Formats: sequence, structure tokens, C-alpha cells
Amino acid sequence: MHIRFWGTRGSIPTPGPTTVRYGGNTACVEVRDSSGALLVLDAGTGLRELGIYLMGANGTRPFHIDLLLSHLHWDHIQGIPFFRPAFVPNSTLHIVGPRQSRSMKELLGMGMDDPFFPVDLDDLPATLDIGEMHDGSDERIGPYRVRAASIFHPAPSLAYRIEADGRSVVYATDTEDPFSGKPNPVVELAAGADTLIHDAQYLASDFKATWGHSTIDAAIDVAARAKVKRLVLYHHDPDRNDDALDHIGREAQRAGHERLTGLEVLVAREGLELQV
Ligand SMILES: [Zn+2]
Ligand SMILES: [Zn+2]
Repeated sequence: MHIRFWGTRGSIPTPGPTTVRYGGNTACVEVRDSSGALLVLDAGTGLRELGIYLMGANGTRPFHIDLLLSHLHWDHIQGIPFFRPAFVPNSTLHIVGPRQSRSMKELLGMGMDDPFFPVDLDDLPATLDIGEMHDGSDERIGPYRVRAASIFHPAPSLAYRIEADGRSVVYATDTEDPFSGKPNPVVELAAGADTLIHDAQYLASDFKATWGHSTIDAAIDVAARAKVKRLVLYHHDPDRNDDALDHIGREAQRAGHERLTGLEVLVAREGLELQV
């Protein structure tokens, strides 16, 4: 599998001169298997640039795009109305998000209702196929096996394990481990994974309990307990500039090596491409 980061920022986009290297767009990751099948993880503002790239690569031919949403906070859905393939007729946008009391279709539509946005979700030229997953879901999406686990966050949220080509990527953003004594669902979901993309919003000094995010140390702890091969720190705090993330990367690499021999620790940045 091949992955590429289009947005790595948490909470709110952070354009400007102090964030050019790691990027200011919010959550979006492109996944490809060896056949080139596309699976998109989250639809933050990074999705807009992925859409521009896809239009360039695909022209105006119809698209079929599978998109998994971790949850519906703004920084994970705001790219949808600006995703150009959604404006290409005869395209299909297959969106899957966490099951909750109201349907995913109704909830996504609310964000684009008048007066919040000029184009209704139902008026997008592409055909929308909106589905839901839940804790324990185990489904096939194209060539991918996708498993989901509920995670702790102030909204119904899922982490996903994606497998293809005999490899595995786990996407666990917007998650906190409040389960002292009980198993953390991400540790179980990520067991033995090749790559774990994990929330790393906080330092120990700015951790906010119950806000549903992890410290960098907590992300390393999950990676070590799950015995993954590679940890990618993700969902950077909007107040973290490039220099701070450089420093975090160096410290986290050292801490990762101490916890698990051979554990590779990277800091996600826009444009980062990884072979899994
Ligand atoms: Zn978020
Ligand atoms: Zn969130």
C-alpha cells in the first residue's frame, strides 16, 4: 500500500509562514493498494487539494471514490463541499462514517444546508452513496478489508484498520485513552500493524483530559503496546509551528526507540508519502 498525507492539522486550518513545512490543512489521507484503488481517510480541508490532484490525473471522467470518515467534527468534513470530483456528473462518492442516532446522510446534509453553504448535499452532481460502520464492523470496500473500532472522543468516532496487499494501516485520530485498567480499543485494533497513524495533538504540558485527544507519549505508548512497525504522529495542534514539530519528531523518535526496538516514529506533514 501507498499512503499520502493531504492534511495533517487538527481542529482548524492553520495557513501561514510558521506552518509551511508540516502544512495547515486539516485531516485527509490518500490510500492506494497495488492496483491503484483509492481509499480516502477523512475529508478535512486537505480533501480539496486531493480533489484538484485527482482532476488533473483523471480529467473529467467519472470518479468512484471511497471515503471513510472518522467522525463529523468540522476538521474532518469541511473539504466535502470543495471536493471537485463531487461536481463531476456520473461520479460516485461512497462515504462511510460512524453510526449514530441520526443517519449519516442527514447529518452530513445539515452542514451544507442553507444558510451555511450555497449548495445542498443532495444537489451535488455526483451520486452519493452514504453508509455507516460501527464498533466491530468488518467490511470489504473495493480491494480493502476495513475494520472499525469505537474510540473515546466527544462525538461518535471510529478508528479504522485497513488491509490490502498483505499490509495494514490503522487510522486512529481524535482519540484519547481514558480506559485506565481496561483495554484501549486502538491497541487491539492496531495489533501488529505495519503503520499506525495516531492522534498526537498534545504535549504532556497542554493535555486536556476528556477532550478526546492524545499526548505524543500516549501515541507512542499505544504503538509500543500494539507492537506496530511504524507510528505516524498526526492531528497536530493548531498552535504547534514547524519548529515545535521538528523538536517533537526528534524527541518522539528517541522515546519510541526506548519503548520498542525498531519502532519508527514519524511526524505527518502535508505531501508525506509512505510505502507500507
Ligand atoms: Zn479533529
Ligand atoms: Zn474531533
